[in-house]
Amino acid sequence: MNSHRPKTIAVRAAHGIDTEFGSLAQPIHQTSTFAYRAVNEPGPHDYSRTSNPTRAALESCLAALEGGSFGFAFASGMAAETTLLSAFGGGDHIIFHRDLYSGTHRLLTAVLANKNILFDFVDLSDLDAIRAAVRPTTKAIWIESPTNPCMRVVDLEAIAGVAKEHGLLTMCDNTFASPYFQRPLDYGIDVVVHSTTKYLNGHSDVIGGALVLNDPEFAKRIAFLQNAMGAVAAPFDCFLVLRGIKTLPVRMEEHNSNALTIAKWLQQHAKVSEVLHPGLESHPQYDLARKQMSGYGGTFSFRVRGAQDEAFRFLGALKLFTIAQSLGGVQSLIAHPVTMTHKWLPPEMRQDMGITEELIRISVGLEDVEDLRSDLDAGLAEV
Ligand code: PLP
Repeated sequence: MNSHRPKTIAVRAAHGIDTEFGSLAQPIHQTSTFAYRAVNEPGPHDYSRTSNPTRAALESCLAALEGGSFGFAFASGMAAETTLLSAFGGGDHIIFHRDLYSGTHRLLTAVLANKNILFDFVDLSDLDAIRAAVRPTTKAIWIESPTNPCMRVVDLEAIAGVAKEHGLLTMCDNTFASPYFQRPLDYGIDVVVHSTTKYLNGHSDVIGGALVLNDPEFAKRIAFLQNAMGAVAAPFDCFLVLRGIKTLPVRMEEHNSNALTIAKWLQQHAKVSEVLHPGLESHPQYDLARKQMSGYGGTFSFRVRGAQDEAFRFLGALKLFTIAQSLGGVQSLIAHPVTMTHKWLPPEMRQDMGITEELIRISVGLEDVEDLRSDLDAGLAEV
């Protein structure tokens, strides 16, 4: 399947599993355990925490989409992150992008910091800063691109190059772009991380996560940790994500086109001071984004003129956009990062990342773009 193009992989990668009845949809193997064929003779699966056919179908589909050899599905994006980062310990040092999803930041500072994992937050757009941050105990670099919510883009190939100079593993959270628009492994990144909750599932009805990688030895370690820690994706959730993935390409194209239309319109709007979207020429990493991404998806951010009062007046006047925490689904969602998604970050870090009171994050869905624009226009009239 890896040799096919993304649209074919999305529709067909999970097909061919059901050899018994030829079922076109992936069967949901809702079972905790599997009968042994005979004494000391397990079948291909023996216990659903270790492996399950529905999960295996999703895992191979995710691997094919990312152009990787091994996929792993988890109960959430955070479960995928926790399992991956559990491969480190004993004083290992990891360099994290300074612009980071707040849940990853919380996992680091409130959980893993107590487990003898050391870390620094570094601006990964500065390759010399990365080199300067490397210590004898440094083991890995954690990248997020584009970032949530400020849509900063970093050079995946260049960072993978610096990592190789120092023998470091690279991990990239690819949630925002999805494998349809960006494949980090193609640029030399070692591990791709996903919250499948977002675009991969795409219908706001599953919490899930994933890892994809190529190295067979590291895959064995992750398979061990996945089983040992047990934060696995349930069969029904795997079925739903697989169903979502079948339309990933068409959804992503539509999200992308709707979002770009809205971003360009917002850029001209008198009540908007800045639009943060990597597909706009005004974006500082526009050329880099074009080089390593084939599209941008439906999520971006913008600043209304004013501060929190204006942001709240705008949000309160919306009728079609739903105020909610997530992104990447068919319905358009909108969030105020300071009081919602990024509330947990220390204020000085929020300030440093540009997450200010007037910042709005928008997840443009698949409704008619003119209806979405009218809704935003009515909201902005209140600013
Ligand atoms: N990574 C990014 C970029 C996210 O936006 C999120 C959630 O919003 C996560 C990881 C965590 O995923 P989940 O909510 O599925 O645990």
